[in-house]
Amino acid sequence: MDMASRHSGWVDLHVHSTASDGSLSPLKIIERAKEIGLRAIAITDHDTIEGSAEALGYPPSSSLEILSGIEISAHVPSGTMHILGYLLRLDDLSLRHTLKRVQEARANRNIRIVEKLQDMGIPIEYDEIAAISGGGQIGRPHIAQVLVHKGTARSVDEAFKTFLRKGGAAYVSRYRLLPSEAIQMILRAGGVPVLGHPFTLDVRDEGDLEGLLVDLKEAGLKGVEVYYPEHGSERTTQYERLARRHGLVMTGGTDFHGATKPRVQMGIGRGDLRIPYRLVEKLKEAKVQSMGRSSAVPTGRSRLQK
Ligand code: AMP
Ligand code: ZN
Ligand code: FE
Ligand code: FE
Repeated sequence: MDMASRHSGWVDLHVHSTASDGSLSPLKIIERAKEIGLRAIAITDHDTIEGSAEALGYPPSSSLEILSGIEISAHVPSGTMHILGYLLRLDDLSLRHTLKRVQEARANRNIRIVEKLQDMGIPIEYDEIAAISGGGQIGRPHIAQVLVHKGTARSVDEAFKTFLRKGGAAYVSRYRLLPSEAIQMILRAGGVPVLGHPFTLDVRDEGDLEGLLVDLKEAGLKGVEVYYPEHGSERTTQYERLARRHGLVMTGGTDFHGATKPRVQMGIGRGDLRIPYRLVEKLKEAKVQSMGRSSAVPTGRSRLQK
């Protein structure tokens, strides 16, 4: 059996390109996805639609379907919350406007991180980071890579631990959308908002996690990223159960970043992830249902907006 038929019917709905902190361009991602025989992908860059838009600008292929996508970092008091958006209109003006605000905040944050590192006596220049970023939006993984190249840190992981992670010596927080704002921005652009990799929320208690999911659903959330390299069978089963209980669609993806995250491969993650195409069909159904309701953008306050 050749590669294409073995992989037929599989998808990867979480891929990063050079438009954010991935190492492959959108075109290279499309080529790789075709090589391994994926049936659908979504480029979900951090806070930018440029990679997704570029991918959708190439002539359509009969073998590989491309869904529009984005990954938004939301403001939460602890842990990390990423909201994925799928099947959204990339030319939506309000989306573009909001993203511009978020991107400016990120750019300012990057400059302040570099200043902090310089204040610590580390010889690092903003241009060096821009040079390795591949021309897209700059993120902490790029700063980490420069620190590794300089020998200031032994690995990207160490660079995060020592300098860049929340609480690290050069950490700088930045403006982020509230979860409800991220969800509403995606809904307004006609997209399907999905909670990315729930394990990074660091909510261990199932009841607490369920409460949070209920709040997010009230704010308009439509799905949960259940299938993900770090989830393992126990978490996967838990997220399947919660998604089913609350009528949320399930999605999956590898969070492929190319060389930035070398152990994770497109389509299969750390080797054993298989995400079936039927999840894409469910996503499309969720989009149609959400469009059919006039209350697609909820206006009520929830605990999330406190
Ligand atoms: P930023 O969007 O610039 O704040 O950077 C966030 C990115 O850093 C995300 O893509 C994470 O995957 C990545 N990241 C966070 N912690 C680590 C770590 N310890 N090692 C490598 N990458 C990390
Ligand atoms: Zn990333
Ligand atoms: Fe993420
Ligand atoms: Fe991601």
